[in-house]
Amino acid sequence: MDSASLEQLLGQGLSLADIGRRVDLHESTVGYWVKRYGLEAVNRAKCAPRGGIARDELVPLVEQEMSIAQIAEAVGLSKTTVRHWLREFGLETRWAQRRRASADGQQQIMLRCPRHGVTRFKRRAAGGYRCAKCRAEAVTRRRRKVKRLLVEEAGGRCSVCGYGRCIAALEFHHWVPADKQFSLSHRGVSRSLAKARAEASKCVLLCANCHAEVEASVITLPSPGDALYNRAWRPSFPG
Ligand SMILES: [Zn+2]
Ligand SMILES: [Zn+2]
Repeated sequence: MDSASLEQLLGQGLSLADIGRRVDLHESTVGYWVKRYGLEAVNRAKCAPRGGIARDELVPLVEQEMSIAQIAEAVGLSKTTVRHWLREFGLETRWAQRRRASADGQQQIMLRCPRHGVTRFKRRAAGGYRCAKCRAEAVTRRRRKVKRLLVEEAGGRCSVCGYGRCIAALEFHHWVPADKQFSLSHRGVSRSLAKARAEASKCVLLCANCHAEVEASVITLPSPGDALYNRAWRPSFPG
């Protein structure tokens, strides 16, 4: 096996095993000649032996969160070769980063979210990481949903004036302040639906204006002993 043809094959980005198959020699024999001709070092410096892929080509693929298998397919190399080059260039797939961060017990890492781009991911109780922005959005969505449900169940309108146009302007007021376990504004509705529903059953639905008037004693709500409380005022709740 002569130096020039070996150099040419290496230059094509073939692995020792690939060259071995072509020239009908064992990969270790090819390796021997590569070393003997001092080629490996030369080619390593030029960064393209063994199934060539340059760092610049690899980095964007890694940043797109591709797995080793996906990168291998994209560049037409074997997974082993891709793995080799990632190691060589000190790169890590995002999945490997996740695994390592998880094993190290890191609370947050930067990863790419399909919706939010590269952003902070927080560790979840169940393990793994989730985009912090996606999580916040999901919490908001759930709160809105729970509130919509509770408002519907409470009749959908202010019990005093009948206002019902904007759900954000409807509020839960506890009939008996002492019964209040938690407020149903903001965070209250992020509790379990059962808990939020139990709390809502102790409340009357008011619009923000009437609520303010009740709090300022401009309006007096019927007390639980009143006939009005039981008939006209008390919103009905399922089960
Ligand atoms: Zn996200
Ligand atoms: Zn009202």
